[in-house]
Amino acid sequence: MYNISGREDMVRLLLTEDKPIVSGLFNFADEIRKKYVGDKIILRGVVEFSNFCGNKCFYCGLNANNDKAKRYKMSSSEIMDSVRYIDSLGIRTVILQSGEDRDMDPLWLARLIKDIKSKYDMAVTLSVGEWAHEDYRIWKSSGADRYLLKIETTNKALYETLHPGMSFENRINCIKDLKSLGYQVGSGNIVGLKGQTLESIADDIMFFKEMDLDMIGIGPFIPHPETGLCSEGHGDAELTLKAIAVTRIFTKRAHIPSVTAFSSIDKDFRKAAFNVGANVFMKNFTPERYYDLYGIYPGREKDSDLIHEITHSTGREIDRSKGDAVYV
Ligand code: SAH
Repeated sequence: MYNISGREDMVRLLLTEDKPIVSGLFNFADEIRKKYVGDKIILRGVVEFSNFCGNKCFYCGLNANNDKAKRYKMSSSEIMDSVRYIDSLGIRTVILQSGEDRDMDPLWLARLIKDIKSKYDMAVTLSVGEWAHEDYRIWKSSGADRYLLKIETTNKALYETLHPGMSFENRINCIKDLKSLGYQVGSGNIVGLKGQTLESIADDIMFFKEMDLDMIGIGPFIPHPETGLCSEGHGDAELTLKAIAVTRIFTKRAHIPSVTAFSSIDKDFRKAAFNVGANVFMKNFTPERYYDLYGIYPGREKDSDLIHEITHSTGREIDRSKGDAVYV
């Protein structure tokens, strides 16, 4: 019933509102999660080091057209302070995320990666957008372990409407490039984009499997007032949970975070994701003075105690280790 062999099974499960079927789906995804990636919730530290961005993504509050956004870029020493704090808590992964800042010197980032890797026993994940092969290569050889680059949607026409001036093919090529360089690679989508169908979400999940991703981030769309999608409703949280469950069942081994965007709707959804396939919590360590400026969407929760609430309510333990990719 819950074995998924392809797109049609996925659409059927994403569509159903039948409560026993949905809870059966969630339970099966939870079992698969336990079997392949275990019972612990992997804790990772995120530092959003810059909100400068040259792109004009229709959904994102950091888009270059938003002149209301106050831009910031952390210095290397500010970033190292955050990394030192993450290390002091025993967390062994730092995710360095930013807008796509064309003025960023790739060699500056390379030096920063080397500095982190020489001082700490920590995995470094980058999430800084589309760059040239040579940049990806230099960062890898400087010690970066992982890279997150969400495809956002696999519907080419929708992708290109939402990302003016960007190319769908280039995004896919970047993901392939990162894989070929030996990064552990994460991608993912946004659920509830205007113009997105259930078939298209199923195609996204087919794509995750085809790319054999190590990490998959799936989150609901959250409207931001300074974007073209300001008057749209947010994505359906229940549908997003179903997409996570189907992804867990279909891809089995991927690390799947329960993303902050859930909390912008209701933090119970962020908790619920851990019962339907998710196994990673990305905790924010961006310094207080910058946190609100990283306004990709509004209502980003300050998650200070949430991980403890979650481990308490799920009875699962925290895993602070590097939490490398799991291969089956
Ligand atoms: N510049 C980097 C990081 C982007 S921010 C990159 O291009 O990869 C990380 C993720 O936030 C994006 O990949 C996108 O999926 C998500 N995001 C941005 N705005 C959003 C919104 N309004 N609603 C939901 N998710 C959003």
